[in-house]
Amino acid sequence: MAAVSLSSYLIKGLKEQYMKLPQGGKVQVTYVWIDKNGEGVCCKTKTLDYEPKSIEEIPEWTFNGLGTRQAESDNCGMYLVPVKMFRDPFSLDPNKLVLCEVLKSNRTPAESNLRQTCKKIMDLVKDHRPWFGMEQEYILLDINGQPYGWPDKYIPGLRGHSYCGVGIEKVFGRDIVECHYKACLYAGIEICGINGEAMPSQWEFQVGPCEGIEIGDHLWMARFILHRICEDFGIVATLDPKPMPDYKYASGCHINYSTENMRTKGGLKDIKDAIKKLGKRHNYHISVYDPHGGNDNARRLTGGISTSNIHEFTTGINNCSVSIRIPHQVEKEGKGYFEDRRPSANCNPYAVTEAIIRTTILNKTG
Ligand code: ADP
Ligand code: MN
Ligand code: MN
Ligand code: MN
Ligand code: MN
Repeated sequence: MAAVSLSSYLIKGLKEQYMKLPQGGKVQVTYVWIDKNGEGVCCKTKTLDYEPKSIEEIPEWTFNGLGTRQAESDNCGMYLVPVKMFRDPFSLDPNKLVLCEVLKSNRTPAESNLRQTCKKIMDLVKDHRPWFGMEQEYILLDINGQPYGWPDKYIPGLRGHSYCGVGIEKVFGRDIVECHYKACLYAGIEICGINGEAMPSQWEFQVGPCEGIEIGDHLWMARFILHRICEDFGIVATLDPKPMPDYKYASGCHINYSTENMRTKGGLKDIKDAIKKLGKRHNYHISVYDPHGGNDNARRLTGGISTSNIHEFTTGINNCSVSIRIPHQVEKEGKGYFEDRRPSANCNPYAVTEAIIRTTILNKTG
């Protein structure tokens, strides 16, 4: 049997007895933030003696940035500024999860804090009512980095074809997917669906549509909940676009986008205008669609199964091998939204949404 982490051997039923104990009027607030690399998450928990009713009622906090490699040794205290509160699906009501921005000791944003500039841009264009929906793909691995559940021996048929699959020869780890879906709903995440993806043990969840900065906040907390649930199961969920380099399938994070104009009668023209602008800035978008300046997507966007080629900008109606797709029903109705298929699974939604707004609404070029 594949190695699993020790914590998943613990008897979870025993834990239930303690989790049910009354809290004496106190409330646990788990502060969640984006890590040094801008790819993972960190958390720590604080007791409040009241239940916060809004984000303003949650105090700022600090952490040791040396421990997370986010600070220098002579300036290690960093600030956690609460920005979005959710219900805690692990320790349940009245406990909270709170997404935080990270500030350095001089109160400027930490390197991986891309939310501040994104928020400024979103505030600037709020009259356009920009909506985003993101399709987060991920792959389940065991602690040794092997795809979760794959048999040692080759099984005919176990080479993909698992998209929306059902059955033990097609999909591995549905328990995690279903727990994550419920936990997100409980928390108040705008999760709008899930499906099995092309590779066995690859899955997808969708968040949205969310307006402006909300998409980044909801997607990051949904990612936190996924990693936290995987802890309970002794499994790793990786957002790396291609953890198995020899295997043709890869993980992306398609982003669907619309403005008020695109959603109203005749909006298809606005959609086509926006796509034209995006086509003129392909390289810039590729450079912000993964956390390594395009290097992650270079492994993924090969023009293979349902991907475009990283070096070309392409678009089409109902075509899944292009950079940007106009869904079939959008073309039919003459309004709606479009799908940019380029962002990598490990993209930072704040960087991706900011770039889309800069190009399509603020008309930035170059
Ligand atoms: P696909 O057919 O590409 O697999 P999905 O069903 O997985 O599409 O995801 C569709 C995404 O589009 C969801 O995240 C949803 O929130 C989003 N979406 C739907 N309508 C809009 C809209 N008007 N503007 C922006 N995003 C939208
Ligand atoms: Mn300490
Ligand atoms: Mn999808
Ligand atoms: Mn998908
Ligand atoms: Mn898609």
